[in-house]
Amino acid sequence: MIKINRNYLKLPENYLFSEVAKRTQEFEKHNPQTDLIKLSIGDVSRPLPSVVVKAMKRACAEMGQSKTFRGYGPELGYPWLRQAIANFYQQFKVQLDPDEIVISDGAKSDLSNLLDIFDTALTVAMCNPVYPVYLDTNLMLGHKVQFFSANIANNFLPLPNEQITADIIYLCNPANPTGVCYQRAQLKQWVDFAREHQAVIIYDAAYTCFIQDADLPRSIYEIDGARECAVEVGSLSKMAGFTGVRCGYTIIPKNLRTADAVSLLQLWRRRQTTKFNGVSYIVQRGAAAVFTPAGLKAVQQNLDYYQRNVRLICQTLDQLHWSYVGGEHSPYVWVRCPGARTAWECFDFLLKQTGIVCTPGSGFGSAGENYVRLTGFNSYTKTRAACRRLLTLNKKMH
Ligand code: PLP
Repeated sequence: MIKINRNYLKLPENYLFSEVAKRTQEFEKHNPQTDLIKLSIGDVSRPLPSVVVKAMKRACAEMGQSKTFRGYGPELGYPWLRQAIANFYQQFKVQLDPDEIVISDGAKSDLSNLLDIFDTALTVAMCNPVYPVYLDTNLMLGHKVQFFSANIANNFLPLPNEQITADIIYLCNPANPTGVCYQRAQLKQWVDFAREHQAVIIYDAAYTCFIQDADLPRSIYEIDGARECAVEVGSLSKMAGFTGVRCGYTIIPKNLRTADAVSLLQLWRRRQTTKFNGVSYIVQRGAAAVFTPAGLKAVQQNLDYYQRNVRLICQTLDQLHWSYVGGEHSPYVWVRCPGARTAWECFDFLLKQTGIVCTPGSGFGSAGENYVRLTGFNSYTKTRAACRRLLTLNKKMH
């Protein structure tokens, strides 16, 4: 008789974003006259930079000529893209060997697939609230999960504590959903803790592109000792508008070894070459164009666009006297629900009163019960319209 992985039955029935979509559609059905504005989206809205499109077009044309056609590429990524990423990291004074970089179809796949190379009886630790993929992928495998809470008391930047006994520690910096960002000294505490406890940090760098302040760490490898304990997962999704194109990478330093001297990089390369046939040549050419001076300049213009939206949202919240964190080095603003509402109550309140769709914080964990997440990913026009609507809310209702 067929047996299923029963861990799947323990997962929450609805993935957060599908539930938001379902409730939004339901509202739209009954209120067709309302022009909804989605400040819930974690997806980019700016088109790809033209330098990226040109590179992909050229690559596409090459694929149509017998002389330049390419079949299977190297499973771990073309050397020129890995080199381009290694060069990019040099601006943060991080030296990487291109062999330590493995190209993938995005951070989500890597964050999940990395679990393949670890023991099946694993304890992992992660923030509460957290990007749901860390939690769900571990629940699917039956791993034990410990949480460290991000709350007002710790400025939403939890630091290690002795209750954490995990083998793997997830850190997302700047964080989704709270939008806050660790200082180097704080990350150092995590690195020291991981080394002391022989744990591995999985460092999700999907949003580092939003850090404009050179005093903040752009890579965990800026921190002394991180090469002995941290895996960094990067993504071109938010950085370069690749959410639909799909390209990311994972960095595993050569000297990251288990206590019995097994190289995690070797295992990861073995895993990827066996289970993955690489990212398409066309996409990798587009990705390499991102890391050219023209690509980086164009990418920065899009990031500036989103940051302008976020600034506007924060200014509006200031005017409303709603408390929040994030927004400064992140597309995300983590807003305390006005009037002591729960997250879903606040979701319904904003939807009904303003036609604005937010993401209920409780979908990211129990610590998000009284929060909602707003994002700067919509167009400037829509974000401005949303902010005007927010300002019309009667403060007495809060
Ligand atoms: N990590 C975090 C924290 C995210 O918020 C997201 C997407 O929203 C991802 C990873 C996924 O990135 P990718 O599109 O590269 O799979």
